[in-house]
Amino acid sequence: KYFQVAIDGPASAGKSTIAKIIAKNLKYVYVDTGAMYRSITLAAKKAGISYENEEQIAELLPNISIRFEPGVPVQRVFLNDEEITEAIRSTDVTNNVSLVASYASVRENLLKYQRQIATDNHVIMDGRDIGTTVLPDAQVKIFLVASVEERAERRYKENTAKGMTPDFETLKKDIEDRDYKDSHREISPLTQASDAILVDTTGLSIEEVVSKITNIIKK
Ligand code: C5P
Repeated sequence: KYFQVAIDGPASAGKSTIAKIIAKNLKYVYVDTGAMYRSITLAAKKAGISYENEEQIAELLPNISIRFEPGVPVQRVFLNDEEITEAIRSTDVTNNVSLVASYASVRENLLKYQRQIATDNHVIMDGRDIGTTVLPDAQVKIFLVASVEERAERRYKENTAKGMTPDFETLKKDIEDRDYKDSHREISPLTQASDAILVDTTGLSIEEVVSKITNIIKK
């Protein structure tokens, strides 16, 4: 039987940063489920479909193939063989992904794919509903949180490093809006699984969080 580690939590809590490092250390496959929802959002945009149009997005799904090329720190993402690693991080995708991720057709489609990967590999999978819905039997479940100020601060630094000129209050509001939508949708909303361990990363370094979670996994 393969080992499954589920990491859930609100936006920008550091899930992917931490999960990627642990996956590399333990030689597990890292699965970024947020990138899958982002890829579908981008595919809708490229096809000229409105984000509001669930029916047309559902029809698009069978024609979408998403592929991940693992790597630390950058895991490349391809949509039908076109590289979209950077494109799925755009502000437009970020601000509309929660709507697209609320559609039943989209979630069902990705759920099968996510579970499939976890039956063939040791995985560390991050998202919003991994511990509650995707891998309810995962041996380790982590719910990663941090204060909204700190999360906005991390995004601010990331964006500044990329040469952008972000507005702190806008970043903070976008994070809060996304968390609200993700925790209030009908299907598999963002919530801590009853058997998940809460890890608050406010004020902790990446190394400290990695070691904390690695200790939980090795127990
Ligand atoms: O993790 P990331 O911020 O890239 O996720 C982008 C969006 O994808 C989330 O805000 C959420 O709307 C959606 N998502 C989801 N379920 C997951 C992972 C992500 O609904 N398991």
